[in-house]
Amino acid sequence: MSQYLKKATGSAAGNLAAQESVTAIVKGVISDIRRNGDSAVSQYSEKFDKWSPASFKLSPEQIAEIIASVPEQTIKDIKEVQKNVRAFAEAQRKSITDFEIEIRPGVHLGQKNLPINAVGAYIPGGRYPLLASAHMTIVTAKVAGVPNVIACTPPIAGQIPQATVAAMYYAGADEIFILGGVQAVAAMAVGTETIRKVDFIAGPGNAFVADAKRQLFGEVGIDLFAGPTEILIVADEHADPFTIATDLISQAEHGPDTPAVLITTSESVGRQSIELVNNLLEFSALSTAALAKTSWDAFGEVVVVPSLTEAWKLADEYASEHVEIFTQDPREALRKMTNYGALFLGEKTCVSYGDKVIGTNHVLPTRKAARYTGGLWVGKYLRTVTYQEVTNDIASGELGRLCGRAARAENFEGHARSGDLRASKYLADKHAW
Ligand code: NAD
Repeated sequence: MSQYLKKATGSAAGNLAAQESVTAIVKGVISDIRRNGDSAVSQYSEKFDKWSPASFKLSPEQIAEIIASVPEQTIKDIKEVQKNVRAFAEAQRKSITDFEIEIRPGVHLGQKNLPINAVGAYIPGGRYPLLASAHMTIVTAKVAGVPNVIACTPPIAGQIPQATVAAMYYAGADEIFILGGVQAVAAMAVGTETIRKVDFIAGPGNAFVADAKRQLFGEVGIDLFAGPTEILIVADEHADPFTIATDLISQAEHGPDTPAVLITTSESVGRQSIELVNNLLEFSALSTAALAKTSWDAFGEVVVVPSLTEAWKLADEYASEHVEIFTQDPREALRKMTNYGALFLGEKTCVSYGDKVIGTNHVLPTRKAARYTGGLWVGKYLRTVTYQEVTNDIASGELGRLCGRAARAENFEGHARSGDLRASKYLADKHAW
């Protein structure tokens, strides 16, 4: 039997009401921007971000000036992290292959992977300058071969986030806009007088951004539902409660709605971890303690399970975005777990490495979306298309006969006649498959 030492108090009903209100606000903004273009974009940017410059787009001169003001070490770090992200994305690109096979004599079928032509990259920044999201969305798009990447990020407290602009520039963005939230996502999806319509929108964001992408899906492609972040840790009796507490807080500081969950086989590890989280939030002078506490109080959970087998099962039910494994054999999770955005194996790595520096992509599925998708990767920016060619008469004629029968079984007479035509044109009525 599982025993909850701490259970989330954030109620599902409360979340539903909040979600409905987000959905209604987002719907109104999208519809207004669709009708009124740039003037609506300016109006909402002023309303939500107190930001309505003459142009949301940065000129090359502005970009150069902003980059010159970023500390040299920050620029070096941006380039080093982007090297890691690029190296991993390039390895992913190599794993995706174009191919052609001859499935029967004269019948050639092929597959090609084409980059999307125009991508809108959303780099969140309402609360923190999330420059790492620039590496993740833009570098990966460029490795995939996307020729046009428009990138948007919000101002923070009325200021341009300088290091984020540098990250967007070095990642390879073709156009950079200081514009946030639903107005940015909607403008890129529907196009305005000054913002080019894109084919696909990528990038994480808060509930408003995530819902805007959801509502616009179909009109544009989207990468995935990458909303407010989550962490889940699976720990056995050998795990260090201080490391557990530190890592739970590291994600809880993202926002007020971050689930931070510990599943452990040890009641002692569970109790110590709760005490340490509470102490660290109260006494460690963490600058983000208030936000992390709001999240931890409402969405923190600690559950003791009788065995690791139960732990893997329960962790799969959570289908969390980030899963840290602090057990004697962390690679067991690779064999046993099936639902997660990214796994962090052993105490020597952590979600913060994945979020900021290690090179795997940090745009990951939330709210159980890990049941049906992985995170952002090169493949999300590619369209896998197919083609076919029939190079001899017999093959075409035999396919024509098969097609005639198959189509008539579905009452598709027009389809059947396309097949009949080839059969009579290319087959001397002798061969049969
Ligand atoms: P954000 O850029 O996502 O959102 C800021 C924008 O929200 C603002 O520009 C504003 O226009 C809009 N907004 C704020 N309040 C609004 C309101 N009441 N009505 C309409 N619009 C409003 O930045 P953020 O808020 O700091 O959130 C970043 C989010 O990204 C966090 O939740 C974080 O957990 C998440 N994140 C997720 C992943 C992932 O892969 N899942 C990765 C990184 C970050």
